[in-house]
Amino acid sequence: MQSVTVIGLGPMGQAMVGAYLDAGYQVTVWNRTPARADELVARGAKRAESVEEALTANELVVLSLTDYDAMDAILAQAPPAALKGRTLANLTSDNPDRSRRAAAWLAERGAVQVTGGVLVPPPGIGKPGSMTYYSGPEDAVEAHRPALEVLTGIEYLGEDHGLAALYYQIGIDMFWTALTGYLHGQAVAEANGISAEDFLPHAVRTLELRYFLEFYAPRITAGNHEGDVDRVSMGVASLEHVVHTTRAAGVDDSLPSAVLEIFRRGATDGHAQDSLTSLIGVLKNR
Ligand code: NDP
Repeated sequence: MQSVTVIGLGPMGQAMVGAYLDAGYQVTVWNRTPARADELVARGAKRAESVEEALTANELVVLSLTDYDAMDAILAQAPPAALKGRTLANLTSDNPDRSRRAAAWLAERGAVQVTGGVLVPPPGIGKPGSMTYYSGPEDAVEAHRPALEVLTGIEYLGEDHGLAALYYQIGIDMFWTALTGYLHGQAVAEANGISAEDFLPHAVRTLELRYFLEFYAPRITAGNHEGDVDRVSMGVASLEHVVHTTRAAGVDDSLPSAVLEIFRRGATDGHAQDSLTSLIGVLKNR
């Protein structure tokens, strides 16, 4: 029977154990708060009584923790020998440097880290179409592909352990700012008596940005920031209207004002007649 250890039973870790149990795996679990394992043990998971027992139970150990500090706190509880020969699929989010340092620390103890950045919420685990960024040794990813694919699809990015964390954090950057944009827009909508349900089709249409990304990416690659289609000066005027509309609705304008500030900086830096893609350079030269 195929088997795996899962350490960390927050909502994500619990979903992962559930997916493994559904797939017929023998799953050993450990969590700082043991009660979080109760339901999974009732479904057939095996509770490890110590971190050492969890690590030594299986070659593949999946970690799903709040951050890498949590991993350090957990692994400090086991003798270093318990790590030898293990592959740790670390599906804990943190920054790229932290991922690289952890991988080096584990390598010194004879363990291999595969870094993962899960791109779906817990209900997406075990469902078709879901995806996780992976980086680290490709042979380790390939060796455990069937087990990793029980959780989600695999998007392998390269040998550098930090890559999965890097792509994940860039995606999360875009996700949080876009989603906060939606929340801000809805606050203005509600202040004007427009419900979320009524505004939904408009919000969906606005956030369908694929056309813009596919239009701009080749121009950015080519270093073409010509203002033939859009200009930073147009963005400044547009954002001033947004800030005005927001204030008139009595809604916090810190978000559009921050965006307006970036556009204004672009204009004073000499990009008023350039495309808004010139703001990438402005953002890089802060
Ligand atoms: P949680 O923060 O809820 O999970 C925390 C887990 O980490 C728990 O098992 C908790 O143990 C453990 N933990 C935290 N601090 C310590 C510590 N100092 N010592 C020991 N154990 C510790 O996160 P989620 O389950 O929601 O997510 C897990 C990972 O997956 C995160 O890195 C998250 O960014 C990522 N992720 C989550 C998504 C989501 O929608 N939830 C989506 C995509 C990625 P205890 O039970 O004892 O508190």
